[in-house]
Amino acid sequence: MPEPGNHARVITITTEAEDGPMLLIHGGAGSRGNHNAEEVDRDLNRALDAGYARLKAGASAEEAVIAAIHVMEDAPEFNAGRGAALTSDGIVQMDACLMDGDGSVGAATGLGTARNPIDVAQAVKDKTKHVLFAEPTAQELADWGIETEDNEYFITDERRRQLVNAQNNGDDWQKHGTIGAVARDAQGHIAAGTSTGGITNQMHGRVGDSPLPGCGTFADQRSVAVSCTGIGEAFIKAVAANQIASRVRFAGQSVEDAAKATLDEIDGYHGDGGVIILPAKGRGVVAYNSETMKFGFRSESESKVQS
Ligand code: ASP
Repeated sequence: MPEPGNHARVITITTEAEDGPMLLIHGGAGSRGNHNAEEVDRDLNRALDAGYARLKAGASAEEAVIAAIHVMEDAPEFNAGRGAALTSDGIVQMDACLMDGDGSVGAATGLGTARNPIDVAQAVKDKTKHVLFAEPTAQELADWGIETEDNEYFITDERRRQLVNAQNNGDDWQKHGTIGAVARDAQGHIAAGTSTGGITNQMHGRVGDSPLPGCGTFADQRSVAVSCTGIGEAFIKAVAANQIASRVRFAGQSVEDAAKATLDEIDGYHGDGGVIILPAKGRGVVAYNSETMKFGFRSESESKVQS
């Protein structure tokens, strides 16, 4: 079994507001790089604007999660939708998961044409009797009303450069950019969503934690909504999102303690990353043991982004 890490590495940020509508988002955990902080700040704020406006208008937590994720999927600097990381054969294969606190969930992997992968997750959840779908066909996407693009649309010069770099100099698995959102609506319902291109230079067909309910994404009205980012293999081994929820629900741990203990386990599996967590009642938490984490949150009384 892995040696547990040490809490000292985990940074936690807790929201001030304890109740009412709230939205937390992330744009990936990683190492200090040369990303354009101004653009990231701007797009995190745009995602908060879009999602929080839905909550203010009385929409459900799930709708707010989707609205925030759409903005980040469309923004090329995040590793999701346009700007997704490239596989070792130079294409985009995206994954997404959407889960409501009532236990309904949908997810999809290996997406190469869906403009907004989170919409496919929602379609699997609402339009099929299944939970997890691999490589839906063009016909299925059309039947579900999913907008599509050529694979080229998703590929940016920056991601091409990162792939060449990874192939010439070895993988740098410390660089992430997966996006996610957790929301609580005016009725106190919670939901979580995550969308990713995976990890640069991953093998064709590799699936990370993001689309796996309980690993990279989880929501349970009796505890918390969680979205993760980081080395997916470690988050899968730790069943990270469910572990956090179970620590809160069954062991009575605080959200902060549950996040710290789970990230410690991830450290033990030689992974790092971050999580955003929102309980049905109580303060939201951002926690990470990577060098940095891009995140934002908004409630009636506060609004913050970190790039
Ligand atoms: N967790 C994602 C994956 O393994 C990567 C990331 O967060 O950047 O697919």
